Amino acid sequence: MSMLEQTASRYRSLKLTTTASQLADLIAQAEANEISYLSFADQLVSNELNHRLHTRVQRNFRQAGFPARKFLEDFDYRHQTTITKRQINSLLDFNFIDDRNNLIFIGPPGVGKTHLAIGIGIKAIEAGYKILFRNALDLVEDLEMFEMKGELKKRISQISKYDLIIIDELGYLPMLQQARYNLFQLINALYEFRSIVLTTNKDFTSWGDFFHNDNVAIPIVDRIIHHSHIFMMGGESYRIKEKMKI
Ligand code: ADP
Ligand code: MG
Repeated sequence: MSMLEQTASRYRSLKLTTTASQLADLIAQAEANEISYLSFADQLVSNELNHRLHTRVQRNFRQAGFPARKFLEDFDYRHQTTITKRQINSLLDFNFIDDRNNLIFIGPPGVGKTHLAIGIGIKAIEAGYKILFRNALDLVEDLEMFEMKGELKKRISQISKYDLIIIDELGYLPMLQQARYNLFQLINALYEFRSIVLTTNKDFTSWGDFFHNDNVAIPIVDRIIHHSHIFMMGGESYRIKEKMKI
């Protein structure tokens, strides 16, 4: 075994796998550029850290479960005038996540609620946060499955590991009592502990009706609204606009 191979394998034994596999190149570059010992020492560690960060972001992206890739850069604020670029950009310091605040996008179908929720989620992942995206019905089904196995608590604590939980399309269809109860358990666990982004077509005034004014549902709404930025969106459906073009 050459000295290079030996050194690389010792890096590997310390789990510095990127350094181990790129050691020859890194040394060759350092020699060619005649960089200082200190720069070289720094380059080894920076290279390893950057690679780890990249891997982690990729993993978080996969785990988020976005239904589509929607980027904030592609959002057209000339079409959607009930929200401004400045409002959305001001969220991207992610203080709302650090402060456990919620975002609520309310509006009719097609106005860009899900697009914005995914776009913000992607930026948050790039900033190092762990995100979970779930359609409300899928989330309810998911909770129900664990509840039937007697593992609701366990599932809720798994979900609570994410910094931000995006619940898409809450309120589109009515839910059964047990489903509301499970959802309440989740919201309760997340309350003031994690952030929620919610998209819904229901204005709060009708949420009571939607939840049949029951004593489980109203506290759900209270807990979500408390500490939240609410965006009331309107306008034409973008889907219809796209159709008209053709
Ligand atoms: P909602 O969740 O409000 O029903 P979506 O976010 O799913 O609406 O938007 C419907 C479609 O139109 C998506 O493909 C989305 O990317 C696109 N879209 C909506 N609003 C805009 C916009 N202002 N700029 C660019 N694309 C948009
Ligand atoms: Mg949507």
